[in-house]
Amino acid sequence: MNCPRCSGWMVHENFYGLEDEYAWFYPGWRCVYCGEIVDKVILSNRKVVSRPHRRS
Ligand SMILES: [Zn+2]
Repeated sequence: MNCPRCSGWMVHENFYGLEDEYAWFYPGWRCVYCGEIVDKVILSNRKVVSRPHRRS
């Protein structure tokens, strides 16, 4: 996998966090050159931004 920003080398990495009392964990990709992070959540967020769904 190549970085979408700089086409650099991306390494697989696991991300952890703690928000209030909810701990989250997800696997993603990080670019070793520019630090760009790509994961399923970010990809889905970008999809929502580019394709806003209608409210009925
Ligand atoms: Zn990069």
